[in-house]
Amino acid sequence: MRKIVIAIDGYSSCGKSTTAKAVAAELGYAYIDTGAMYRAVTLYLLEHSIRFDDLPRIEQALHEMHITFKRNRKTGRNELCLDGAIREDEIRQMRISNLVSEVSGIPAVRHAMVRQQQRMGRKRGVVMDGRDIGTTVFPDAEVKVFMTADVLTRALRRQEELAVKGEQVPVEDIVDNLSKRDHLDSTRLESPLRRAPDAVLLDTTHMMIDEQVDFVLERVSARLFSLAAAGWEQRATQ
Ligand code: C5P
Repeated sequence: MRKIVIAIDGYSSCGKSTTAKAVAAELGYAYIDTGAMYRAVTLYLLEHSIRFDDLPRIEQALHEMHITFKRNRKTGRNELCLDGAIREDEIRQMRISNLVSEVSGIPAVRHAMVRQQQRMGRKRGVVMDGRDIGTTVFPDAEVKVFMTADVLTRALRRQEELAVKGEQVPVEDIVDNLSKRDHLDSTRLESPLRRAPDAVLLDTTHMMIDEQVDFVLERVSARLFSLAAAGWEQRATQ
């Protein structure tokens, strides 16, 4: 069966990655968490004491660092590796969340990440989540979803995720972080967070994960059906 690209964009902590992961598993597609890549760049710059305004050093660093994903056989999850080492836990910490939107707004960083993401999805058969997948990375994605949710609901979900990992953060700090990131992500000059005109809006405030996954899978089935029908029509008229 024809493989397509599924772009899931939206605000921070709307459940994009949980939804995207489940959709990818259901379809047997690869899942790519593009936010993890920007988080990894942030971690790299911090660890190498590179200032965010030192553009020549940043450009050099982008050539030197290796960002990859490795499948964990036990959990079935794709884990982010920076220079060969799994760094999943560190990139999810609040200290990275507080700085990542500054780093992701740097044009050189965006160009390098977008190029890598396009290479990763060139054979299609991927579910990619982020902020600019449907607008910049794969404007030709066959299915585009734009997710949103009330900020307090998002903060409470994020607080729970962090608590599971042993990081206790007051909900006000998380609301503050999410609001700041949303603002920076939406107002940056280079590929800002925007709903693509052809993306379907999904408000997850009152939704369970299963419902979100079903919603996306229904869109995928409908799209695959219409693509197949268009193929049949084309063959019939040849
Ligand atoms: O998805 P996540 O919240 O982990 O993303 C972290 C940050 O990475 C976002 O707040 C945003 O600044 C940046 N990002 C981006 N473009 C993407 C994915 C993430 O700018 N495609």
